[in-house]
Amino acid sequence: MSKQPAVICLDLGGSFVKLGVMDAQQQLTILDQQKIPAQSWPDFTALIGRMIEQYQQYFSADSPLAISTAGIVSPESGEMFASNIPAFHQRNLNQSLGELLQRKVIVHNDADCFTLAEALAGVGKGHKVVFGAILGSGVGGGLVADGRIITGQNGLTGEWGHGPITLTEVDIAGETVRLPRQPCPCGQKGCLDSYGGARGLENLHRTLHHISMSSINIIAGWQQQDRQAQRTLQVWLQLVSQPLAYTINITGASLVAVGGGLASVTPLMNALNDEVQRYVLRSTHHPLVVPGMFAHNGGMIGAALLAHQTA
Ligand SMILES: [Zn+2]
Repeated sequence: MSKQPAVICLDLGGSFVKLGVMDAQQQLTILDQQKIPAQSWPDFTALIGRMIEQYQQYFSADSPLAISTAGIVSPESGEMFASNIPAFHQRNLNQSLGELLQRKVIVHNDADCFTLAEALAGVGKGHKVVFGAILGSGVGGGLVADGRIITGQNGLTGEWGHGPITLTEVDIAGETVRLPRQPCPCGQKGCLDSYGGARGLENLHRTLHHISMSSINIIAGWQQQDRQAQRTLQVWLQLVSQPLAYTINITGASLVAVGGGLASVTPLMNALNDEVQRYVLRSTHHPLVVPGMFAHNGGMIGAALLAHQTA
């Protein structure tokens, strides 16, 4: 195998820029983190240039720049859709950053990058089709087949959090809970995103009990047998497990790697796996839904692996 150059890795979130390096042994080291100048393209590019310059001893002239970001990259035009980061919303980052920095730039959606990292080097290793389910503050996802990201027509493959898919009636322990299909910022009503991630769990608890509580406290209450929190989590598990089981049926994924904050709550992931196994057409002996290995920096690792693939 030819020696790969070190890869410069960036994670661009709504509030931060993280810089790292992936060495030839595919080990990621985080070097720096700064507040993102989210509103200004000149400030944004100046910061990226300064950060790379400051750590230049880690990189070589042929080191590509691999970027994982919360935005969506149009497979047709290469333009970013990142409305919460106006600095590069509707810009072609590959091209414009590449020209500015005189490097090859690879930019991809963070959920897709996370899924690639899990499929190639994490819990999905050895599986032909891996679905990455992000349960962070919202719900996102990505799909990898045969070690390649499936971007699809609009770069939206794996977005299982959107679409009119939530149940409006959930049966739990002799009770039928009725839920409204709530409007979603995507323009539809009844998206899983309204109830599915940490923000959704808080919304669900508020809808069911008229109490505002953090997702951390709701989950702690569930683990301490608090009746209201248990009711919320029973409903939540139904709402999330059915679309996830359906996603598994459609994609043929033999493993779902979960990322985002909720992935760190092991009992919740075990309960979600049990529910999903009830609803998939063919349940498995091995766990289907497991927390990913790269919950923190999976996006950067996946982006670097993608840079190797496209070298
Ligand atoms: Zn939506």
